[in-house]
Amino acid sequence: MTAPHILIVDDDTALLEALTEALKIRVDDVQVDTAESASAALARIQETDYDAIVSDIKMPGIDGLALLERIRAVRPATPTLLITGHGEHDLAIQAVRGGAYDYIQKPVDRDYFIASLKRAIQVRQLSRQVEEQRVALERYASELEHMVEERTRELVEANRVKEEFLSLASHELRNPLVTLTLHMQLTGMTLERAGVPLPPHWERMRQAIARMEVLVNDLIDAVRIASGKLALSPERCDVRMLCAQVATEQEASTGRVVTLNMPAEALEIIVDVDRMSQVLTNLLANAIQYSLADRPVVLSAARVAGEVLMSVADQGAGIPHEHLPHIFERFYQVPGTSVQTGPRVGLGLGLYICREIVERHGGRIWAESTVGQGSRFYVALRMAPAAGGRRRSPKAQDVREPSPHR
Ligand code: ADP
Repeated sequence: MTAPHILIVDDDTALLEALTEALKIRVDDVQVDTAESASAALARIQETDYDAIVSDIKMPGIDGLALLERIRAVRPATPTLLITGHGEHDLAIQAVRGGAYDYIQKPVDRDYFIASLKRAIQVRQLSRQVEEQRVALERYASELEHMVEERTRELVEANRVKEEFLSLASHELRNPLVTLTLHMQLTGMTLERAGVPLPPHWERMRQAIARMEVLVNDLIDAVRIASGKLALSPERCDVRMLCAQVATEQEASTGRVVTLNMPAEALEIIVDVDRMSQVLTNLLANAIQYSLADRPVVLSAARVAGEVLMSVADQGAGIPHEHLPHIFERFYQVPGTSVQTGPRVGLGLGLYICREIVERHGGRIWAESTVGQGSRFYVALRMAPAAGGRRRSPKAQDVREPSPHR
């Protein structure tokens, strides 16, 4: 307890002195101020936040009850003890109703007076501590809020700069890549026309350019998604046709067999055909690159409870279960994974783009995997309502007849 500071108010100077004396003897380190009138007391109260105030009720001019009212207005937390005359019960009741901490009857019982005053001081000092802690907490909270706001602003700005850089870089990379592809095709045609065989490194150059195209296109798509600019043009299509076309393209570009597992009846969905092909292409490309060349890759589709469920299964290395929840995150690559067929192509964006595309169609995408046995990726989409609408027919040369088992 810090040294208490008390104000005693009484027009009776003898009682003032007696009470001051008693306090100084029985309360450690007490500092006592005195006032002989309520108005003198009010002047002091304005300046000093006392631990407790003791006042006689009966005083000329402003009496103790009126003084109590003013104290409550100026220093509502300061406990005030009022001294009443002997038998003045009505005044005592008024004092307590008016917010007095306690009342002391004359002749003053010093033990009772000191005990009551000590309690009042303790209450005041505790409430002051609580108040100080509340203020300190509020200050910390506001400092913290300020800090969080500042960090958030910094992060938003850093994120904006990063997105801007990605957008700029991906588009700047795209232009020379297009030029490179065109010139390579032109050179190839010129050589062919001149009857000169293509040089042995020609195919490797073509593959390297194709890989760069995948990377740059993934970057451009990721930037489009982040800025909410991924546009979709949905149309009705038969999933079996879609799967057959994507499988054929993957077989042609990788030399791997993709087994199709399709139902006999049509499975119609309403999707952006190019974007949904991109999803299946990504899943197949992953299944192919993360499994050995002699392992089967199966693309299936079936109707399950009003939905079309597509899946891509491989018998590759699998994904440890602790990484499964993260593989659809942007730039996430399972640490320590290496491709098992062909060169590694990817920035950890493929599955992120797949998830965005599928979810933008109101569908779901997820994976199941067992290390050492393989992975299966699922895409579930709403069936198209039964109606005869315009159908997109994939390019004839790219389509093969879907069969239940291939
Ligand atoms: P990446 O460009 O690295 O292939 P993706 O987003 O397509 O990025 O995949 C994220 C990560 O998930 C990959 O880096 C790989 O570690 C893991 N992964 C994806 N598909 C398979 C799969 N079929 N088998 C094993 N691991 C896979």
